[in-house]
Amino acid sequence: MEKQDPAHVVIFPLPGVGHVNSMLKLAELLSHAGIKITFLNTEYYYDRVIRHSSDGFSRYMQIPGLQLKTVTDGLPKDHPRTPDKFTELIDSLNLAIPPLLKEMVTDSNSPVNYIIADGYMSHAIDVAREVGISIIYFCTVSACAFWSFHCIPNIIIAGELPIKGTEDMDRLITNVTGMEGFLRCRDLPSFCRVNNPMDLQLLLFARETRLSVRAGGLILNTFEDLEGPIFIGPLNAHLKVRIPEKTHSSSGLWKVDRSCIAWLDKQPKQSVIYVSFGSVAVMSRDQLIVFYYGLVNSKNGFLWVIRPDLISGKDGESQIPEEVVEATKERGYIAGWVPQEEVLAHKAVGGFLIHCGWNSTLESIMAGMPMICWPSFADQQINSRFVDEVWKLGLDIKDLFDRNIVEKAVNDLMVKRKEEFMESADQMANLAKKSVNEGGSLYCNLDRLVKDIKMMSL
Ligand code: UDP
Repeated sequence: MEKQDPAHVVIFPLPGVGHVNSMLKLAELLSHAGIKITFLNTEYYYDRVIRHSSDGFSRYMQIPGLQLKTVTDGLPKDHPRTPDKFTELIDSLNLAIPPLLKEMVTDSNSPVNYIIADGYMSHAIDVAREVGISIIYFCTVSACAFWSFHCIPNIIIAGELPIKGTEDMDRLITNVTGMEGFLRCRDLPSFCRVNNPMDLQLLLFARETRLSVRAGGLILNTFEDLEGPIFIGPLNAHLKVRIPEKTHSSSGLWKVDRSCIAWLDKQPKQSVIYVSFGSVAVMSRDQLIVFYYGLVNSKNGFLWVIRPDLISGKDGESQIPEEVVEATKERGYIAGWVPQEEVLAHKAVGGFLIHCGWNSTLESIMAGMPMICWPSFADQQINSRFVDEVWKLGLDIKDLFDRNIVEKAVNDLMVKRKEEFMESADQMANLAKKSVNEGGSLYCNLDRLVKDIKMMSL
């Protein structure tokens, strides 16, 4: 009998740490199930990772059946590719990628049966339809954020946008079905904070989210007890269950500083608050100093990730201020990039001051770690509302900016209300673990996905 070719899937994330890391985890899980994977990175992103990070993509290069490929993003070499230029990146990808993708999926030497595209890549659907193969979307944001993006046209039509200044921020939004009682203007995705409801970035998120219903399916990196039906995340937890013999850590754009673990080893149990704002968010020097005073004055230990590009500003202003470095020596530790999941699992860590990027939020939930949320952009505003108001896993201090507020929030989370938050974080972590273990709903959903992909190659 002729040997059947394995199913072959092309996976294409947007070029960003949160997108690439979570989709790489899915790629690893699918490879482990015997599916051949071609994983696409843009050349620009791939080169950046290779240049700055500790081990680039080397771990993934050793996974049998997983092939990494680079493609152009279509932007000129000197384009800044900063978050504020996101619209240009998406529009450019939507033009540049279809012909490359079409060529790849129709290559007779290695035919592709399935595409898994990032949720903002509507062009991939057109290619899949044209060549007659299946496509599903991977949503890297939370289900609550996805739903709010989907409802943006309703919000605009109902006249609930634009937001009329700071005094209008606490107005309740009534056109995101299911969230009527608690979603305020300030909790909407950050790109809703514009004067013009026809703003290009706002419309782009709404358009791409609405177009995603044309795909054959939608993978949400979350779990039922947290957000509702048909999900498969958190992906790292799946890896630990299905491939326990390997260590699974996220890669990033920067060299990992492991010395923080030795420092944590010397700290008392649950005494340290871990502080990180993800891979993209930036803050001014003044904002950094507010956090610094809040942390130091709280008298709790802290481990703080200050990436080389965290502080915005002109040359010289973007360095870590000397006073921060000096005063931190007493009870804090600063690192450029840490092994986050290992840090969150460390017994010395008792809280997370987080920007509410979705991967970090999930990692925190999996680790049973209460959070103080200071969201920066995109879906982070709504995630932080859910962490506080809906899931009761911490405190949302969005838009509040004062050293006393930071100090109070840290003390509430780490001392005064510690038991209450630890208990709810523990409960949620247990629910997540239960659904990812064999027989749990997430375990079965992932099996269903694998079966569906394999059926396409028969
Ligand atoms: N991360 C890390 N080390 C750090 C800071 C962050 O490994 O020092 C990882 C973190 O574990 C997460 C990712 O970077 O997987 C950040 O993704 P997220 O979606 O939270 O935020 P984004 O970077 O997209 O804003």
